[in-house]
Amino acid sequence: MQGIAILGSTGSIGKQALEVISLHPDRFFVTALTAHRNAALLFEQVRIFRPKMAALTGEEAVVPADLSFCQFYFGPSALEKVAAEAEGTDVLAAVVGVAGLKAVLAARRAGKRVLLANKETLVAGGEMVMDVCREDENGPTLLPVDSEHSAIFQCLQGAGPNRYDKILLTASGGPFRTWERARMLKATVEEALGHPTWNMGAKITVDSASMFNKALEIIEAKWLFDAVPSQIQVVIHPQSIVHSAVQFKDGAVIAQMGNPDMKVPILYAMSYPERLYTGTKELDLFALGSLTFEAPNLKKFPSIRMAYDALYAGGAAACVLNAANEEAAGAFLGQKIPFGSIYHVVEAALQHCGHLPARDFEDIERADALAREAARKAMAGQLK
Ligand code: NDP
Ligand code: MG
Repeated sequence: MQGIAILGSTGSIGKQALEVISLHPDRFFVTALTAHRNAALLFEQVRIFRPKMAALTGEEAVVPADLSFCQFYFGPSALEKVAAEAEGTDVLAAVVGVAGLKAVLAARRAGKRVLLANKETLVAGGEMVMDVCREDENGPTLLPVDSEHSAIFQCLQGAGPNRYDKILLTASGGPFRTWERARMLKATVEEALGHPTWNMGAKITVDSASMFNKALEIIEAKWLFDAVPSQIQVVIHPQSIVHSAVQFKDGAVIAQMGNPDMKVPILYAMSYPERLYTGTKELDLFALGSLTFEAPNLKKFPSIRMAYDALYAGGAAACVLNAANEEAAGAFLGQKIPFGSIYHVVEAALQHCGHLPARDFEDIERADALAREAARKAMAGQLK
């Protein structure tokens, strides 16, 4: 039996992880669950999956008497405690934002295998995270859950000593792919939340609309697959059937396909290298008929360019990009800034922060705080 702790169990990824665990009760058991504020759903999940530990990171709550078999912890530090101390081998990092970074580091220090959905962690603390996530005698210690990165990881299975030439990172293009730029800059929250192919949490859905999600994924790919920026090509593929592809030096391109369903990459990370039943809809190529691909529009979506710039700049630039985007996406969701301002806020924060080092956790924390402050100033009109 494989024990899995789920950080962020009340979210979109967390709930789907519990669904696939329910399909394989003879293989997996839940060791811990965490939520931020949704105590009601967390209690319900604890009642069903009976973990020994649980955490509510955003507030305190009175635990129902029938859940006395489970030890509850409260507050932000509870996330690290659960990540390090839950029994079992695996920790699924499915919280949103850089809030997951300390917990991922704590999980690895405790010798856990990390299944990573929480891409912001890798974007902000890439070098530090990869340093503690080297392969060990049991294989990889960090398994990607993000669908594109799971696809790339799958395409690289069996590649042996052959390095790839290029990563073809696919993107649906989001809800504004066909919109005029001027119209997109004024899009409402409701319009931004209408993703054409994936049903996800609010923050990543806004990121998909601004294409900051793809920007984060370029940086995520750099760290996971040790790529240089010129080896990562974004490919717009509106049907979201090809989840990404890898090109090798002999010209062969291997792609991973399937209907858009996060249960597939979530379960693959859990069961790797085995494949288990997910219950996903079978891919019907005849019904699809055709798949299309186009180049990204970097003028309309400057987020993609900012990701490459941040990678070339090095230091804590990616951490600044991530933190400023978290602030801007949050402000847009709270209807405090227009959609188009997300780009200005991130760009202004990057320029304002300049070169910052990323040698250790304190550097990352400092860069994250400076970027958030710069983003807030930019939103208040106090930065150009
Ligand atoms: P959701 O917003 O749906 O869920 C987030 C989860 O994290 C919830 O359990 C939430 O608790 C908890 N949480 C929120 N804020 C904090 C915090 N500050 N500290 C600790 N826990 C917190 O997000 P998603 O499931 O969509 O995404 C999770 C991660 O996975 C993100 O990094 C995203 O980029 C990545 N990802 C998601 C995909 C998807 O299809 N959804 C696809 C690929 C990657 P509560 O419910 O109490 O608020
Ligand atoms: Mg993705």
